Amino acid sequence: MIQSRCPRDKTNLLAHKLLAVYLSIYIHSNQPPFLILEQLTIFYPQHSKGIDLRKGSFVKQMDAKRKDMQGAHFDHQSDDHQMVKAVNKKMVDSPKSFDGIPVPMGIFFTVFFSLVYYLLIRWREKIRNSTPLHVVTMTEMAAIITFFASCIYLLGFFGMSFVQATPFIDTEEEEELDETTPCGAAVSCESDIVPVKQVVKKETEMAATETIVTKEDEEVIQAVVSGKTPSYSLESKLGDCKRAAFIRRVALERITGKSLDGLPLEGLDYESILGQCCEMPVGYVQIPVGIAGPLLLDGKEFSVPMATTEGCLVASTNRGCKAIYASGGATSILLKDGMTRAPVVRFATAKRAAELKFFLEEPLNFETLASVFNKSSRFGRLQTIRCAIAGKNLYIRFTCSTGDAMGMNMVSKGVQNVLEYLHADFPDMDVIGISGNYCSDKKPAAVNWIEGRGKSVVCEAIIPEEVVNKVLKTNVASLVELNMLKNLTGSAMAGALGGFNAHASNIVSAVYLATGQDPAQNVESSHCITMMEAVNDGRDLHVSVTMPSIEVGTVGGGTQLASQSACLNLLGVKGANKESAGENARQLAKVVAGSVLAGELSLMSAIAAGQLVKSHMKYNRSNKDVSAKH
Ligand code: ADP
Repeated sequence: MIQSRCPRDKTNLLAHKLLAVYLSIYIHSNQPPFLILEQLTIFYPQHSKGIDLRKGSFVKQMDAKRKDMQGAHFDHQSDDHQMVKAVNKKMVDSPKSFDGIPVPMGIFFTVFFSLVYYLLIRWREKIRNSTPLHVVTMTEMAAIITFFASCIYLLGFFGMSFVQATPFIDTEEEEELDETTPCGAAVSCESDIVPVKQVVKKETEMAATETIVTKEDEEVIQAVVSGKTPSYSLESKLGDCKRAAFIRRVALERITGKSLDGLPLEGLDYESILGQCCEMPVGYVQIPVGIAGPLLLDGKEFSVPMATTEGCLVASTNRGCKAIYASGGATSILLKDGMTRAPVVRFATAKRAAELKFFLEEPLNFETLASVFNKSSRFGRLQTIRCAIAGKNLYIRFTCSTGDAMGMNMVSKGVQNVLEYLHADFPDMDVIGISGNYCSDKKPAAVNWIEGRGKSVVCEAIIPEEVVNKVLKTNVASLVELNMLKNLTGSAMAGALGGFNAHASNIVSAVYLATGQDPAQNVESSHCITMMEAVNDGRDLHVSVTMPSIEVGTVGGGTQLASQSACLNLLGVKGANKESAGENARQLAKVVAGSVLAGELSLMSAIAAGQLVKSHMKYNRSNKDVSAKH
């Protein structure tokens, strides 16, 4: 409403000003009164029957007159023509603009300006003859009265345009007009019209300038820089996670004198990481996600998202997937599914520690302990308790199923319940730590390699000779030999722990990052033994990966973040499985193993064929200037 009225108000205002200037010039130049009529129609076209108001004609006349009018600011751009046309059409269609002038325009203005002319002449003569101005004749008196009456009438005439401005465009029409003409203006109104292109630009500009420091922000930044406000308290203090991240970031830049340009701030939902994924955020790191696949696993196809910055990795895994696909697919078997936590407790004597060990491992006690443990969650179900003694210290390894969660929190809560319960019978038990490293989490450990942790999966495929030759560009005998000397013997020589593979951790890490897993659990999740054997009279290749501790979940942690959740969705394992709790996480573990199988096949083939260095030189070597820039 305001927008559609403003240009006409501006026009009228401008016209009033011009009229005032014009009249004063006119009076001093002694022009005959009728001449002004023609000029007036320039300023008040909507009130003039003498001017053609058909579409666009006003614009043309304006253009013509503008050249004669020095100092006038009637400026319209070609883009405004459509608006002008629309408004002019309304003017033509509407009889309302002349409703307030029943007297014919020509007669009225002739009388009015004749009166003005007569009075001004009389005024000049009185000044010349030194006659007092208040001494007036009857004719002059009549002229003055008529003049004032005309003025009042004229005010109504001009006022009419203001009054009529509101109903001039009725609401419905206005909406229609607003669609086609952003401002409903006959002349440009740059301050109000924001063309679509400009709007888009402004929005992008806003995104870019959202990082502008406001006065309020500046105060908080200074408080953080000076140490008055602890950086960690910004979220709770401000109640706005994004703003907290921005302020922390600027404060950090000032404190360190280092720029964080290149580390994006925009594009992450900071509320979604609060209290769950990351504290004191200042931005996020971008890692490209590539897709390997389809991986044909257990008769189903999976497009495997891999977040990595290592050139060749996705391409190589993709080639492995191709070989598996051409061979009829891979098969996976879940051997075990249980997350572990092992607290360390201490007694005064080794005897007392051993007593607890026997108590915990006694099958008759399991049911009671399980019911205590299981109170912690709908999904956590105690499976086994294994103990190890070191002197008078006891390490108790609890294993439980955790549904679709990776399960560290779940198992920890269950363990806490059991330890509290045990205090009744073993009051001399001193709980040293809820985690005693016999779990074992995020460290290479034989216990995981032997007992398993999380999901234990074996995955296999038989790759026919022709696929080995055509897709993998090598032969079965070379692969088998290489596997024996590298993955088995070579790793044994190196004293490897679970590292009997070519590069399982490459695939595990990339899939973990893409799907929101805990990347630190790559350590034990990458435990893998790759086996290769010639089968079917030595023609085809049997390849398998055995991975005892794949620790994955599809709920909790980073899995709920938008990007990671999208990758889980791509695999069809997003969130909790509605039909069978834990099925999504188990499926994800199988996909990890299947992808590792593909990765092993491809890399081993590349090494066997002597392609490794060549392909890495092509895809993996930086040819850019990597000297540090600050
Ligand atoms: P973790 O134990 O892996 O650290 P969290 O404790 O952060 O995971 O997330 C598990 C949470 O998700 C628990 O509160 C659990 O009750 C809930 N949850 C909902 N559905 C499932 C499911 N299908 N499996 C496991 N946990 C689930």
